[in-house]
Order: sequence, then structure tokens, then C-alpha cells
Amino acid sequence: MKIIMLGAPGAGKGTQAKMIADKYSIPHISTGDIFRANIKNGTELGKKAKEYMDQGLLVPDELTVDLVIDRVAQEDCKNGYVLDGFPRTIPQAESLDAALEKRGEKVDYAINVEVPDENIINRMSGRRACVACGATYHIVHIPTKTEGICDRCGSELILRDDDKPETVTKRLNVYHEQTQPLIDYYNGKNVLVEVDGTRDMKDVFGDIVKILGA
Ligand code: ADP
Ligand code: ADP
Ligand code: ZN
Repeated sequence: MKIIMLGAPGAGKGTQAKMIADKYSIPHISTGDIFRANIKNGTELGKKAKEYMDQGLLVPDELTVDLVIDRVAQEDCKNGYVLDGFPRTIPQAESLDAALEKRGEKVDYAINVEVPDENIINRMSGRRACVACGATYHIVHIPTKTEGICDRCGSELILRDDDKPETVTKRLNVYHEQTQPLIDYYNGKNVLVEVDGTRDMKDVFGDIVKILGA
């Protein structure tokens, strides 16, 4: 099962993608997590990506596409995967489709998690992230057992540099301009499904499972 998560920054793509990956035993591939791991490890890619991420801009396609195409060709992706944060531009989607087509494969579902812009700033200001394991929490909606500590791996949580309200506004604009057109793109390929992302995390997941099948 090859799944793509679509939705605004903060819509809950990562939260749902992790639950999908656990339930269906497929890898969760988050380009944001890959970039943040590279930044943490001080790699060349990390240095380049950070310049864009801190400004709320997209990392250029040249630095992003090959990374993902190589990743989904790996052995553990044989039975499928859930892509979170990729594609984010039409050229990225076209590159992915072309690479899959060469292997006789295709995207099965593009799940659009719908959350209005009004809710996004609140979601982002309360978001806390674990860079060690990729888990994400919310100080009000999805709190950890111990404040500031990851339930899953015990590492300290961070407030992402790009979750400041001014940067979030910029990221929302970038989303509407560059990423939202993917909704029509995947609708045209008859793989688009939509869920109401304003519902409780578990209810959103229930809706997704109804679509994917138990
Ligand atoms: P969010 O969870 O808020 O949607 P991500 O963690 O997916 O954010 O991404 C954080 C940042 O990483 C983006 O704002 C962008 O700068 C960069 N990024 C992640 N994925 C991509 C991509 N597919 N193309 C370009 N930039 C990306
Ligand atoms: P994305 O990957 O789309 O940027 P995240 O999964 O990181 O979004 O979620 C953004 C923030 O909203 C996080 O703080 C997360 O804990 C919280 N969140 C996710 N899903 C829900 C939900 N259904 N209701 C309330 N808050 C949520
Ligand atoms: Zn963790």
C-alpha cells in the first residue's frame, strides 16, 4: 500500500502517518524528519536545507526528489510506505510518478487531511517534537505523560524553529501556492481521499482505517 499524506503544515499528517505505519507495518517516510536529522548531524544537506526551512520556504526540488526516490526503492518499502511531507510541489509529484511507473507501480491513496487555516496557528504553537524518534505532541490536545519528555523514547522535546507564528503564516502561504494544487493532481489520478482533520486524533484515524480497510 503506497500512501501519500496531503494537508497544510500542522494538519496532523505526521500524527496520522505514524499510526498508519504502525497498523499496516509499513515505513513512515517524512522528508521533514530526514532534513531535521541531517541538520542535527551537521551534514551538507542539513546545512543547505536549514537555510530554506528557517525561512518557511520549501527546500529546492533538486535536494529533495532523489532522496525520496532512493528511499522508496529500498527493500523495506517493498510492501508499501506512507510518505509524509512529500510530494509538496507538482514537479515532485511528477518525478515520483515517473519513478514508480518505471517499476510498474503507482500511488494507491493520497489522503488529504483537511484543517482550516484558522486552526493551524494554534496547532503549531502548541506542537512539541522529538528529534530523536520523530514523535509529535501538542501541549493541550496531545500532552506527554511528563512535560517536555518524549513518551516513546525519553528524549527532550523541542519547539521547532519554524513553528513560530510569523514563520507559520509564511508556510501556510507556501502551502496554498505550491502544495495545494496536488489535491487536484491526485484527484485527476483517482487516488484522492479526504478526511476531516479537525476531529479528535483517534476519530481521524478511524476515518482513515475505514478508507484503507482493516
Ligand atoms: P510540517 O510537519 O509542518 O508539514 P515538515 O516537517 O513536513 O513540516 O517540513 C518542514 C520543512 O521541511 C518545510 O517547511 C520545508 O522547508 C522542508 N520540507 C519538508 N519536506 C519537503 C519537500 N517535500 N519539499 C521541499 N521542502 C520540504
Ligand atoms: P503535520 O505533520 O501535518 O505538520 P502534526 O502531525 O505534526 O502535523 O500535528 C501538528 C500539531 O497538532 C501537533 O502538535 C500534533 O500533536 C497536533 N495534532 C495532530 N492531530 C491533531 C488532532 N486531530 N487534534 C488536535 N491536535 C492534533
Ligand atoms: Zn522520542
